[in-house]
Amino acid sequence: MNVLVVGGAGYIGSHCVRQLAAAGHNPVVVDNLVFGHRAAVASDVPFYSVNLGNEKEMGKILRKEKIEVVMHFAAYAYVGESVTDPLKYYFNNVAATLHLLRCMLGSGVKKFVFSSTCATYGIPDRMPLVETMPQAPINPYGQTKLDVENALKAMAQAYGLSFAAFRYFNAAGAAEDGAIGEHHDPETHLIPLAIDAATGARPPLQVFGTDYPTPDGTCLRDYVHVDDLSRAHIAVFDKLATPGTALFYNLGTGTPTSVLEVIRAVEKVTGKKVPYVTAPRRAGDPPALYADSTKAQTELGWKIKFASIEPIVETAWKWHAAHPKGFAAK
Ligand code: UDP
Repeated sequence: MNVLVVGGAGYIGSHCVRQLAAAGHNPVVVDNLVFGHRAAVASDVPFYSVNLGNEKEMGKILRKEKIEVVMHFAAYAYVGESVTDPLKYYFNNVAATLHLLRCMLGSGVKKFVFSSTCATYGIPDRMPLVETMPQAPINPYGQTKLDVENALKAMAQAYGLSFAAFRYFNAAGAAEDGAIGEHHDPETHLIPLAIDAATGARPPLQVFGTDYPTPDGTCLRDYVHVDDLSRAHIAVFDKLATPGTALFYNLGTGTPTSVLEVIRAVEKVTGKKVPYVTAPRRAGDPPALYADSTKAQTELGWKIKFASIEPIVETAWKWHAAHPKGFAAK
């Protein structure tokens, strides 16, 4: 398939591009490089630095590259910022995505794979999460993703768009061969911050909240390897053949891991202590989020290769040890 990967220079998008190529597909990348890294995409992959809301330019790319499927990873994803600057999130995550969809439909491209999030569930009253549970996001970031999910449902019915929306849990880790990895600026994610605290590249880690109703008092999350996530996106292609298909899948391993367990895994893998201080709870953090991903496993034959935290951290460490400044000059 000829696959347009919008946001293909970002963390999850760039890993997906490599998985697409490995599976024999033809990825084409669009990324405006606001958060993406040009170096995360191999030089033999067609690359366009364009805003996804630019229908004229996007239409040209869809036609020139004979695109059959669009994957969309280009979103702002800082929960706190979405609270202080919701317009930015609604414009980019919702409005620009609607431009992209209108452009696709106008060009006759009707297969779409969307990055959604477990943040659409809000604070669930039961765990693990299954796809049919109520969605009640508690911040504008989660709301923008839910808004797009709903728009997609309506477009599937009205226009015969076929789509899969994947609700990610905590994407983590890096390519197994160490070629690419996670580099956000600013970095807010636990594993890269814990690794940097271990190497001394950053100050001691702050553990946000030690009084949660969890076994060790810290938050439980479901860390899922970025290449496992990527493989689900490719496994869904066959299902998109039928016009009007609307699919929603949780992508997580189902294993809850606490912040302290992540710290211990980083210490074991790196052989270094992770200095940390306890800090107040971070606003908007639910105590526990983990997935039931039976649906993806049964319907897509999705196989989880990285089922626990240590092998995930090993891949993250391999990338960080070789690229202490990420994609910036070493
Ligand atoms: N966390 C932490 N200190 C940090 C960053 C994160 O204690 O510096 C915690 C955070 O409260 C959450 C978990 O680590 O419970 C994962 O956070 P992350 O930002 O990586 O992902 P999120 O779950 O917010 O998507």
